[in-house]
Amino acid sequence: MALQPWCGLEVLVTFWPANYESSWTLVNSVSRRGIGLHSGAESEVRLIPFDKPGFHVSWVDSKEPPIPLSLNQVRESQLCTNLLIGNNCLSTVEHLLAALAGCGVNHVHIEVSGNEIPLLDGSAIGWVEAIEEAGYCMVDEHQPNSFPLENSLIFNRGTSVIAATPAERFSLVGIIDFPYGAIGRQNFAINLTPETFVKEIAPARTFGFRDQHERLIASGLIKGGRLDNALVCDGDRWMNPPLRFEDEPVRHKLLDLIGDLAIVGFPKAQVLVYKGSHKLHADLAAALMKNCPESRLCFD
Ligand SMILES: [Zn+2]
Repeated sequence: MALQPWCGLEVLVTFWPANYESSWTLVNSVSRRGIGLHSGAESEVRLIPFDKPGFHVSWVDSKEPPIPLSLNQVRESQLCTNLLIGNNCLSTVEHLLAALAGCGVNHVHIEVSGNEIPLLDGSAIGWVEAIEEAGYCMVDEHQPNSFPLENSLIFNRGTSVIAATPAERFSLVGIIDFPYGAIGRQNFAINLTPETFVKEIAPARTFGFRDQHERLIASGLIKGGRLDNALVCDGDRWMNPPLRFEDEPVRHKLLDLIGDLAIVGFPKAQVLVYKGSHKLHADLAAALMKNCPESRLCFD
């Protein structure tokens, strides 16, 4: 049991699965309520134990059975990951999915009341705390949440690059390079396990830029963005320090990547991403699904 070191938060870490070689679900249901980053609308999410693999979404006022998430539901998005599930849109799913997959919990029913997942504090740690509160248990020790990769994959969009090379386990290298003195060039590497995810990635908050605020608001975005749910960079300084990690931005970019791969599962690969984006993450997820017959979607 250890206390996390970041400012102001004390999270008791008890036990997490050792790796992604088995399947886990929740023991009890757990709810969280909050506002969405882009809509600014309040909604509630209930995480419910489920006996089938994957993430299954239903709306609280619908009689339809939960629908399994799949990559063909992902819609073009610049600043977040949106899904079209049946006739309903669900926005900004990446931090919740990162928390579930990152903790090794991959049999879940997600019941939602609105069309955007609450942002909470801008990181995934609130969802990790919800998972801890619900408790988790193994569903199948022989059903891994990761799968082998046979051949290397590499994609680029302009100068942005994402590559996956076969490896024993899932590890990540992130590199970002922003023309703002407060961020600049950062890199971070991690062998991902549920424990390292909770300690090193989940607390990293989303970030934005003061000089883009008016343009994004005019575009109908970030209506729920506030100084207590997103780091705001103002050139050479942060408007709302302190940071939880010196390199919190690059860690958050890896959090987003983990969330965008969650629907497919994790490859046994070293994944390197340089100046990543949700579209670039989607390129890799699609290629993993196509090239790896053991990826998550094969269970659906
Ligand atoms: Zn994010």
